[in-house]
Parts: sequence; C-alpha cells; structure tokens
Amino acid sequence: MFAIVDIETTGGNPLHAGITEICAVITDGSKVLQVYETLLNPGYSIPRNITALTGISQEMTDKAPVFAEVAAQLHHLLHDKIFVAHNVNFDLGFIQQEFSKAGFSFHPPKLCTVKLARKAFPGRRSYSLGNICGNLGIGIQNRHRAGGDAFATGELFHQCINQLGHAEVLKMAKSTRRKISVPPALSEDDINRLPDNPGVYLFIDQQGKILYTGKANNIQKRVRQHFDVKRGKTALQLERIHKIDFQLCGNELLSLLTEAHVIHKHWPEWNVSGKHVVNKYAIYRFPTQSGYLRLQTEKFRKGSLSGIPFPRFRDAKQTLGRMLHEHDICPVLARSQGRCYVPGCYCENPSEETIATHNQRVEEAMMSLQEQKNRILVQGEGRKTGEKAVILIENGAVAGWGFTEEHQPEIEMVACIEPKPDIPETRAIIASFLRQAKTENKITYQIISLN
Ligand SMILES: [Zn+2]
Repeated sequence: MFAIVDIETTGGNPLHAGITEICAVITDGSKVLQVYETLLNPGYSIPRNITALTGISQEMTDKAPVFAEVAAQLHHLLHDKIFVAHNVNFDLGFIQQEFSKAGFSFHPPKLCTVKLARKAFPGRRSYSLGNICGNLGIGIQNRHRAGGDAFATGELFHQCINQLGHAEVLKMAKSTRRKISVPPALSEDDINRLPDNPGVYLFIDQQGKILYTGKANNIQKRVRQHFDVKRGKTALQLERIHKIDFQLCGNELLSLLTEAHVIHKHWPEWNVSGKHVVNKYAIYRFPTQSGYLRLQTEKFRKGSLSGIPFPRFRDAKQTLGRMLHEHDICPVLARSQGRCYVPGCYCENPSEETIATHNQRVEEAMMSLQEQKNRILVQGEGRKTGEKAVILIENGAVAGWGFTEEHQPEIEMVACIEPKPDIPETRAIIASFLRQAKTENKITYQIISLN
C-alpha cells in the first residue's frame, strides 16, 4: 500500500517553517482507496508570496488544527504505507519533523515520483509536477493546493506503475534509514529508540566515562551518521561504546550551550580540543597616553569581562571594521594605522572635546555589541509541543536555563531557570548568537529584555 502525500508549507526549511495543508491519497497502486485532507495551523505566519501561490491565507489556517492534534490519526494512516511524494525528501522531511515534535517515530520506506517518472518516461523536458503531468495529459485541479497536487501525483504514480510494473516500483522503494554498523555492545533497537529531536548525545564507555558528546538537531539521525557504513570515515572505536545517552534541548542554541557544558565539565576523550566554539579572539578597548580610546583585536584573555569574544579572528576583525563605520569613529584614532581617509573627520581638530566625542562613540559601539548591562531572556522551541526553552543571560554570561509551558509571563520564565556555572565557551556562544540575531531574523527565538 502506498500513501501519496503532498503538503503546502510557509517556507522551505522544516526548522523554520510549518505545514499549512496536507493531503494523503491511499492507493494499492491502481486505485485510490482513501483520502485524508486537512488545512493545518502552521505555527508560523504565512508570507504573502506563499498565500499568492497557494491561495492559503492566514485566516484559513488560524481556525485549522495544529499538527499535534491530527498526529495520532495521521500516524495511524501513514505508518505502514510506502510514503510517496513528488520530491519525497521535502514532504517527508517536514512530516518527520512534525511527527517527532509530537512524539511519534516515523520512518516509512519512501518513493519519489520524480525519480519514478524519469525512469518510466525518460527524455522529457522537465519533471516538475506541473510539466510532467501536462506532458502526460494528467489534469491538475487546484495546483499548489495539497489535494490538487496529491491527486495529480497519484495519477502520475499510477501511470509509472503501469509503465514499469508493480514489482519494479517496489524495488525502488528506499528505506529512510541507512545501513549502520552498530557498536557491538548495543543493538539496532537502542539506536532506533533515540529521539529525532534537537539535543546532545553522549557516547559512554563500560566504566561510565563519557567518550564523546555532540549536539544535533536530530539526535538519532546524527548518531546514525557516526555509525554509517557507507561514509565509513569515522575513526570511532565502536567496541568502546557501551551506552548512548542523550539530553533533549528543544532547539539548536540550547543544544550548543549544553554541549559546551558537558565538554567543559567532562572533557571527553574524543572531543578534540578547540573543535567546539571557544573564545579565541576578542575586541578590547584601552586608553592611550593621548587620551583617545583605542580598539584592538587580540587573543582572548580567559576570564576577562571587558573584551567582546569571537570564535575566529576574521569575525572579530570584520566586526571591528563595521563598528568604526557604523558609529562614525575615526579609524586612525581608534586603530592608529595609516592616514585618515574620512572626509571632514573630527580628528582634524584635536581638542579636549574631540577626545570626549571619540571616546563616547567608542563606548557606545562597545555597548551596542556587548549587551552586557542587560538581563535577557532568550526563548526557543521546547522539547515538545506546547513547551518553551528559556535561557537567562546576565551581564553577557549564561546564568542558566530551563523549560516552561508556552505563553508564560516573564516571572514564570525566570522561575524555571536552573542556574549554570559561567564558562567562557557559553559566553562566546551567546555573544555570537546575539550578534547574529541583530542581522538575521531568528524567527524561532524570542529575545526579551528584562530591564
Ligand atoms: Zn579621522
């Protein structure tokens, strides 16, 4: 039995987008037996161009159920069928992500109708759904709606089966799990039981010592990559792994912080030093004899609070350049390199006032990067639907983290925080996160200033 599935989404990446509509057409390969179709509340706002493409508007999905509400019914329908879609990895990726958030494991065999159509009808100009269907005389009603596309894909699938034969098509169904070499002390089931969610995993030896820790958006998938037979590049001594442990984190940022803490505390043998984010360089400001504050990129001094840490020299240097530009700071006074090229720069008229202006701009530039005077909460995805992860940042340090239900007031969010020791690695991770948050739209995180 096959499930022909099509989804509409708010974007291309399952980590940053949601499903607005799903349709599953169940077929035995020659006739349609059952149809499941529903709009879904994606949990994201729908970009205007997507509404224009699909005709699915915010109002339509606001009243629709969220995926978690239909997950049990949908899992029951799909789990024992071969999953078929046009560009199957796209639809399957979203659906696996949603199932795992809702607590369901979903690893059906998969078939792609793009591949099937290429084989059944070679030499066509295009295999996009619209073009190949047009080419084969398959009409699509409601193109770019899940139902319209799923029915057309189903018809295309039936034609491929007619052309290639049932047995040949079944042979092309791929397991969604790759073959792995399991550590001898463990069973395949131990691996299959690992969650498909963001967090850290730990390889533990017979004595209970942590050999290795890593962070992943999908713990099981990442662990499987370590044991992948085909890649075969891992130099892991599989026989030393006696247990795999994990901690769910809900989102990438908290996974990074947790990984840093495990490495800092246990210094696992296989975690090569420096592989994770460490402060290597920092921007420092210091006064010169002439009274002007100078800015410099240097090796990070451990435990130093005055510098702004960066994992790489290049990042620090680029940021320093941007700081000077954005805050109209004289590059010569701040860096004492070369001649000033800024027309009408204040450095042309040195005075007490010039010093004050210059130093104030330097301080402002540092402050705007540092955010150190703030208590900040960062809220991200939790370990399951309806839960949020909360990270508390105080004076640039990660003070701790915890989990709460959705839509809690600030006081509840602060109350859930479990304190963590301040270590330079988490300071660098959070500094880099906050810097990125200024320029990129970190849609899955919310940054809340507490003062
Ligand atoms: Zn100047």
